[in-house]
Amino acid sequence: MKTERVRVRFAPSPTGFLHVGGARTALFNWLFARHHGGAFVLRVEDTDAARFRPEFTAGIYDALRWLKLDWDEGPDAGGPHAPYVQSERRALHSQAAAKLVADGRVYECFCVKPAVEAPEPADDSADDEPDDDSRDDGAVDPGRAKARPLQDRAAPACPCGSLADAERERLRAERGGAALRFRVDPARAVTVNDIIRGDVTFPAGTIGDFVIVKSDGVALYNFAAVIDDHAMEITHVIRGEEHLANTPKQLLLYEALRWEPPVMAHLPIILNEQRRKLSKRDGATFVNDYRELGYLPEALVNFLALLGWSPGDNREIMPLEEIVREFALADVVKHPAIFDLNKLGWMNKEYLKDLPLHVAADHVAALLPKRMPSATRTDPKHIARVTGLLVDRVRTLADVIDLGAYFFADGPIDPTPEALEKHCKAPETVERLRAIREALADAPGFGEADIEAAIRGLAEKHGVKAASFIHPLRVALTGQAVSPGIFEVTSIVGRETSLARIDGLLERLSSVKPAAASGTSA
Ligand code: GLU
Repeated sequence: MKTERVRVRFAPSPTGFLHVGGARTALFNWLFARHHGGAFVLRVEDTDAARFRPEFTAGIYDALRWLKLDWDEGPDAGGPHAPYVQSERRALHSQAAAKLVADGRVYECFCVKPAVEAPEPADDSADDEPDDDSRDDGAVDPGRAKARPLQDRAAPACPCGSLADAERERLRAERGGAALRFRVDPARAVTVNDIIRGDVTFPAGTIGDFVIVKSDGVALYNFAAVIDDHAMEITHVIRGEEHLANTPKQLLLYEALRWEPPVMAHLPIILNEQRRKLSKRDGATFVNDYRELGYLPEALVNFLALLGWSPGDNREIMPLEEIVREFALADVVKHPAIFDLNKLGWMNKEYLKDLPLHVAADHVAALLPKRMPSATRTDPKHIARVTGLLVDRVRTLADVIDLGAYFFADGPIDPTPEALEKHCKAPETVERLRAIREALADAPGFGEADIEAAIRGLAEKHGVKAASFIHPLRVALTGQAVSPGIFEVTSIVGRETSLARIDGLLERLSSVKPAAASGTSA
């Protein structure tokens, strides 16, 4: 029984931003490390130069930090196993390759694009996890693993495995380089002992000889991951189910290198509510999208923790400390986890209830420039008042901006046709708006109570219900037929903007007067 300290890693390929599937993998590794007092290592697998972009790396760090998944070792954190960026670890990969060459476990492969390595047709839904960097090493691309299980494929043999020495030398001279292909005995089977899935056996004949180093000397994913996991003393590999079919190859490499493999745990696939792979068509798929939609990191983390794991009872809203305390890989299920956006919205609302107003307002202020670039009223106190008014009505903090856009703009606004139709058709509307304008201009103060007194006073004076004044005022200020309490809304909109909006509506009503008049009964 191993007693060493738990060491896990999250190993994203920066070929895209942090996907929610990747975030769930990072979170489960982080939870496992924190639960056991172990180390959470971040390793950037950037060997796919063609698809790597530095902004993706920065975006991944940023998303992890926003989720507060701090790493103990890795880029920006250092650690005894630096460097933590895979492209800087080539010397180590070459040493391991040399060992396999010396042991006769690999052969030179000169195929330009052999059938066995040719990329399969692209599938744009293949983004459950960021793609790995292994397209041409026969590694199973996460997005394709389900469509074509490894077990169903008979691996074609590579002719380079049986070249005569003279032919090999001729090709070596002609090509100037060769890939290294790992030889797999087709007669055997490889069993993955997975903590979550139990034993999964792969007949080696379906794996076939696979490339571990490209002809340019760069180690491919399956090989690089094994070397780095071993060098970094990773005790548990926790990753998406999409990688299960890569695992027998990795186990064969551990065996050939005479290294003990880590414990394997493959997390269940994440499906949308239609039980299909989560894809861009489902809307937000990246952590950043959720951030920009105004979800709270605490709510997203709580939600992600329940994608495959549960505390064994019906608890859903769980503070992070509680999740850390109770998290166990043994409780992770193997059936697909359903990404239920409604549930996330509900959770976010629950978290919003406990959020101090100033924190919520800070989030809204941070979201505002991108969500509403035209916003002109961005004073923090104003944002806090608007947030306080709307926070109980929204699921995410971006909704505060969408629902309350009229608070963040100056000057007149365009009322919706429904609001005009519903509340501005009466011939008295113009006259009432003029009276409201005067009353608001003259109000001694502009607090909620001042405004209420002014409007109710008007209603009394004219012998009509307050609603007769409230409705047109609402259309003028918010452009809508419904809004939160109009007295508070008016106070927050402020005197100057309120008067400008009433003028705007008056102008509009006078310009459409003939049509409006013909549509009303005298
Ligand atoms: N770079 C791989 C990915 O992003 C890592 C897979 C693994 O965890 O081994 O999918």
